[in-house]
Amino acid sequence: MGHGWEGAVLKLFRAKDFTFTVTGAERLTEHFARVRFTDGGMLKVTGVHPTMWVRVWFANAGRPHQRGYTLVDPDPEAGTFNLDFAMHDGPACEWALAAEAGETIEATVQGSAFTAPDPLPPRMFVFGDAASLPAINSLLAAMPDVPATIWFETAHDDDSRLLVLDAGLHRLNLVPRKEAGGHLVTEARTALPGLIGDPREAYAWVACDFKSTRGLTSLLRKDLGVPKHRVNAMAYWR
Ligand SMILES: Cc1cc2nc3c(=O)[nH]c(=O)nc-3n(C[C@H](O)[C@H](O)[C@H](O)COP(=O)(O)OP(=O)(O)OC[C@H]3O[C@@H](n4cnc5c(N)ncnc54)[C@H](O)[C@@H]3O)c2cc1C
Repeated sequence: MGHGWEGAVLKLFRAKDFTFTVTGAERLTEHFARVRFTDGGMLKVTGVHPTMWVRVWFANAGRPHQRGYTLVDPDPEAGTFNLDFAMHDGPACEWALAAEAGETIEATVQGSAFTAPDPLPPRMFVFGDAASLPAINSLLAAMPDVPATIWFETAHDDDSRLLVLDAGLHRLNLVPRKEAGGHLVTEARTALPGLIGDPREAYAWVACDFKSTRGLTSLLRKDLGVPKHRVNAMAYWR
C-alpha cells in the first residue's frame, strides 16, 4: 500500500519507515486489545523515549489511513513492543481485533519526542483518556519521584483499569465523558486554580480529544498563566 500525500509530506521531514510483524494478540479488558510486534529493526535505529509513538498505516477501503499509537513495553534488545488499542468504531481498532501472528503492517516514525520538564514541577497535572492511557503510564514511569494529579476521562466504567499508579504519589480523578469532552474542561476549570500554585513552576501534560485538548490548553496558558514550555499538549483523536 502506498502512503499517499501524507507519506510524501512525512518523507520531507526525514521520517523513517519500518515494517512491524505481529507475534500475537490478546484482549486485555472488554475495551482494550493488545497486539504484540517485532519492530523490523526500529528501536535500535530510533532508541526509546517516554510516551514514544509511531504512525501506523492501516488500510481503510483500500486507502492509506495513518494513526498514532504508543509503544508499550518497548525492548530495543529484543526488538519488540506492544500496542494497546482502546476500542471504538474505526479502521485501526478493526485491524487490531483481527490481527494474527505473522501478518505485517507498515509504520512511520516522525514527530515523537519527549523532554522532561526542567526544573521538575512540585506536582504534575495530567489530562487524558483511554487513547492516552499507554502514554500516561509511560509518562508517570518516566518521572517516578514527581507527584501527579490525573484527570482521566472515561467512556466506560473499566477504562482506567490498566492505569499503573503509585498510591503514595498519584491522585486519580475519574471524569465521565459528557458534553463531547466539555465536562472535563469544566472540571479542570473548577479544580485547577486552587491547585496550580506558582504557574511558572507548574507542568501540565494533556492528551485528550481535539476539543478538550484545545480547551484545557487555553485554560492552562491563557487563564492560569502557565508558560508555553510547561504545557505539553497534543490531541490524540477527534
Ligand atoms: C501521539 C498519539 C498516540 C496515540 N496512542 C494511542 C494508543 O496507544 N492507543 C489508542 O487506543 N489510541 C491512541 N491514539 C489515538 C488513536 O490514534 C485515535 O483514536 C485514532 O483515531 C484511532 O483510529 P481509528 O482508525 O480506529 O478511528 P478513526 O477512523 O480515526 O475514527 C473513527 C470514529 O471513531 C471515533 N474515535 C476515534 N478515536 C476515538 C477514541 N479514542 N475514543 C472514542 N472515539 C474515537 C472518531 O471520532 C470517529 O467517529 C494516539 C493518538 C496520538 C496522536
